[in-house]
Amino acid sequence: MARRVYVNGRYLPYAQAMIHAEDRGFLFGDAVYEVCTIEDGRIVDERRHLDRLDRSLAEIGMAQPMSRPALHRVMKETVRQNGVRDGIVYLEISRGAAGPRNFRFPSPGTRPTVVCLARSISRRRLDEAATKGIAVVTVRDIRWHRPDIKTVQLLAAVLAKEEAAARGGAEAWLVDPTGYVTEGASSNAWIVAGNGRVVTRPAEHGILRGVTRMVLLDVLAAEGLTLCERAFRVEEAYEAHEAFITSASNTVMPVVSIDGHQLGEGRPGPVTMRLRKAFATGSEYT
Ligand code: PMP
Repeated sequence: MARRVYVNGRYLPYAQAMIHAEDRGFLFGDAVYEVCTIEDGRIVDERRHLDRLDRSLAEIGMAQPMSRPALHRVMKETVRQNGVRDGIVYLEISRGAAGPRNFRFPSPGTRPTVVCLARSISRRRLDEAATKGIAVVTVRDIRWHRPDIKTVQLLAAVLAKEEAAARGGAEAWLVDPTGYVTEGASSNAWIVAGNGRVVTRPAEHGILRGVTRMVLLDVLAAEGLTLCERAFRVEEAYEAHEAFITSASNTVMPVVSIDGHQLGEGRPGPVTMRLRKAFATGSEYT
């Protein structure tokens, strides 16, 4: 099926989906975004994603570009027009294109740019990856101090992922100056300690409050597992029984090695796989 992209009110053929050269998202990274999973044609945890989008917009002083029902219609229609059953829908809102490049906010009437894309991702391939687990490598966290806002300023993540790939990793775990893991380049980071406790960094600041992370906190409680919200060091992660990452597109993805240190038996661990299986019980579908 030919792909189509929503750009400012129109569903355009993929090759014609353009934004202006002076769009502030392009010039300054002055834009926020969300990625939701699509399962059987339904959007997973849309309410939580749009709540976070509202927060991101508020934190950068941008008004909502359209009502929530209108955003829902745009996402649904983009998914439909691209024939996506399993995959993702990506929504980006920039502060628009407002004439000559100028750091200052544009005048209040400036129209924000709204782009929505949807594409298929093979669930089978993700499940296959999950049966093997992934390798991660640690990389210094060089991001700005507001990773809690989901902006498109993703250069640090791009460089981290590139370094991870060069070192044989499927994801980079970012490490703060004191040696603690903050999160993945595009995921939240978790370990399962020897006592069975599931450990992840608190989301007050310094990391993105992942929607998958939030859903998993509920799932953990429902499964009777003990959560320990605290930062952990790289060395502790090397010794962990299990580890995994969470993100909308991966849900729960097992990690079997960190910087070449094999975890446990080098296979996805039982707690991780149990959480991966139970994950859907905590999600909402629209
Ligand atoms: N942290 C970062 C830095 C991310 O980019 C992402 C993915 N957007 C996540 C965590 C996971 O967030 P979510 O579960 O909402 O996809």
